Amino acid sequence: MGTGATKVWLQGRIHGNEPYGTDTLLDVLKTLGSSGSPTARAIRAACTVHVIPMYNPDGTELYIRHTVLQDGTERRIDLNRDWALNAFVAKESKAWYTYWTQVKPDWGLDIHHQGLKYDTETDEPITMSLGISLAPSGPTLPDIRGGEFDRTTRRMQGYVYEQLSRYGYVNIDRYSVGGPGQYREIDIKGGVASAVMLGLNWNNLNPSGHSHPMVFFETYGGSIGQKSRGKAIQQNVRGATELLHGMATGAVAATDPMIWHRIPHVPYVGYFTDTGATTGWPTRPPV
Ligand SMILES: [Zn+2]
Repeated sequence: MGTGATKVWLQGRIHGNEPYGTDTLLDVLKTLGSSGSPTARAIRAACTVHVIPMYNPDGTELYIRHTVLQDGTERRIDLNRDWALNAFVAKESKAWYTYWTQVKPDWGLDIHHQGLKYDTETDEPITMSLGISLAPSGPTLPDIRGGEFDRTTRRMQGYVYEQLSRYGYVNIDRYSVGGPGQYREIDIKGGVASAVMLGLNWNNLNPSGHSHPMVFFETYGGSIGQKSRGKAIQQNVRGATELLHGMATGAVAATDPMIWHRIPHVPYVGYFTDTGATTGWPTRPPV
């Protein structure tokens, strides 16, 4: 969609039991692809948007998080841990990664679900958590390009937070994992959103080490009713549209990256990683 110079990567439903990514991205395609609104026109003029509404079709059929290998082993693979030098077990990963190396996007967004979650102070349901898969000010992100992606991803999510806070039904926090007293911020290298920031060069398909910022949304969902489902999808559509528009107009670039630190979040005790260790908190001062 679009004819602009900035290449954007939008993906949904890498986890087959998280349907709103597909619903959201089909809505974004339909609306922004055909609308004559100033917002849609500005996005189409500035961006060429590559949309993957359903990254994991087999997991979708089975309504499970993973995909199942069709090689006789029936091994279950989490496609969002399969972009790493020693991974790429699933064909989907090889296919989408190859496409990614051809597109060489400038930035990306990934859409997920989480279970029902409540604000620890107000007890209100959290309708959306904003995530950065390599923790800002954490063990990894500040070292990439001198902290450029650390700042850019915080600007992106800070802008989404500011824009969506205008809508009464949206209640946002920062994404975390774990439970009371054990909450951690994620720093997972084998997820798509991390691999693209790390400039992963698998099978020598990305010899120039192309890399770009990428963030993710986690929407509430699963066992919610039809009315809430519509709202959940609508907030994703608004969030994705605001992000596209803000990136296209320069409004995101003008956003203070420190807004990220003001988004409501639980107290953390460390990082959750996929490299076998959780580290202390915090390791670096936010900048
Ligand atoms: Zn997910």
